[in-house]
Amino acid sequence: MSDTVEIVLATRNEDKVREIGEMLASLPVTLLSLADFPGIPDVVEDGRTFLDNARKKALEAHGHTGLACLADDSGLEVEALGDRPGVMSRRFAGPGATYADNNALLLEKMVDVPRERRRARFVCVAVLVAPDGRVHSTRGELTGYIAEAPRGAGGFGYDPLFYLPEYGKTVAELDAAVKNEISHRARAVAAMRPVIESLIARHS
Ligand code: IMP
Repeated sequence: MSDTVEIVLATRNEDKVREIGEMLASLPVTLLSLADFPGIPDVVEDGRTFLDNARKKALEAHGHTGLACLADDSGLEVEALGDRPGVMSRRFAGPGATYADNNALLLEKMVDVPRERRRARFVCVAVLVAPDGRVHSTRGELTGYIAEAPRGAGGFGYDPLFYLPEYGKTVAELDAAVKNEISHRARAVAAMRPVIESLIARHS
């Protein structure tokens, strides 16, 4: 048995792997991802909620590996668009859309929306399936405004368009360490930390 607990991040998104890896760096865990299990088929993300999709991703990865599996389903809810794109955030501009395609479509849809009606939130639901099959879920949110033009080169996805008035910056302009403290994903992962710590305690 190794000294660390193995946790599979149930994603092929390298941006999520990087961020969650940074958030859990101080814990004695070995993080794997679906890149380490190329035979596992992609999950069809057809849930109506972030929780449905995160649970499905974590349970399928657990079914294939038998290990502790942590999934993140996340996205952007824009008030002026009736909380869209929501669970469709990755595919907002269609199947195979790039981050740039999605950002261009978002700006187009928001072109006539005045500043005070551009409120939005990033949402992340994390689901951890323990080796014994028990399911734990947490949620984190970050509120801000949709900017009128992209700014910054950090982060990923909609970060260049997500403006935080309290910082005077978009999320893509924040230091990675700051994003990893305040983001929706940081909040969901921080809330999951006690569950991960209990896995570590049981393992040692
Ligand atoms: P998922 O892989 O189905 O969870 O989709 C996540 C999508 O939501 C990503 O492809 C991004 O478009 C968006 N998203 C999630 N988290 C972030 C973030 O931290 N910054 C920017 N965009 C994000």
